[in-house]
Amino acid sequence: MSPTLDPELRRALAARIRYYQEIGIYDFYRRPNQSEAKPVFAPQSSAHDQLAAAVPVASAEDKTSTLQPELRVEMSPRKSAALRMPAAVEDNMFEVIATKPEQGSSDPVRALKIIREDLGDCTRCVLHKQGRKQIVFGVGNPKAELMFVGEGPGADEDEQGEPFVGRAGQLLNNMIRAMGLSREEVYIANVVKCRPPGNRTPEREECETCSPFLMRQIAVIKPKVVVALGAVAAKTLLAMNASMAQLRGRFYEFKPAGVRSNDSDWDGCKLAVTYHPAFLLRDPRQKGEAWKDLQMVMKELGLKAPKTAT
Ligand code: URA
Repeated sequence: MSPTLDPELRRALAARIRYYQEIGIYDFYRRPNQSEAKPVFAPQSSAHDQLAAAVPVASAEDKTSTLQPELRVEMSPRKSAALRMPAAVEDNMFEVIATKPEQGSSDPVRALKIIREDLGDCTRCVLHKQGRKQIVFGVGNPKAELMFVGEGPGADEDEQGEPFVGRAGQLLNNMIRAMGLSREEVYIANVVKCRPPGNRTPEREECETCSPFLMRQIAVIKPKVVVALGAVAAKTLLAMNASMAQLRGRFYEFKPAGVRSNDSDWDGCKLAVTYHPAFLLRDPRQKGEAWKDLQMVMKELGLKAPKTAT
């Protein structure tokens, strides 16, 4: 979408948003524009499967074993300062940097607790009345250098209250180990904190309603690298609509949209996109491609793959 608003109108809109902030209204969402949606499909590519040794292959009874393209939902691009890439963001006119309660705390454990308390027993989107058992906030090291962002909780996560604890979670654990890290060293969260019914893909509106909490988590944790797992996470974080083929294979300069870290030394981080582990369970041939993405991240973080016993 290109900016077509009259500059005068844009200024008036920005002033109105500032006014809302002053009276304590911080979160703004843009309504979806269905006409912008268009299908995007990840290409099938054969790759040297270096992850195969480290990660399990989908079993016959895997309920997600139907081969599907990685991208199941399309979200129209949002104007956001989260992304700094050439020609992707025309200006930051509408970026509203809100002051959030956790910004008073320099302790990330406390700050994350404040965000969780702010989330409360959330009823902001329809997911709260569609069978969720509990909110799945996030888990891991509050000072992690590496953060993984998935789509939303599944049945196991909804049951246990922790992201990525089911089959996709086991594969993610293996991916993390293959990078020479442990699950406890990284932070793991999702775009939406409530399980979509039947594990459906979260709607764009649900992502937009919930993602400000994710942005705040990122601003508190201040990772060096965020890895977006799959298209929903990538497109929500980067506020852009593109295929996985276009999104993967490079770093993005990332700043969480709408929030500022209270650490002036942290000016955002790098963001990489890779396949969602559930997709890799459905199509293990893509593990080699995912491993390439993770190796790029390892290089950035100065990590070496652990020597495997022979
Ligand atoms: N898939 C996700 O995207 N997140 C989870 O927490 C589990 C599965």
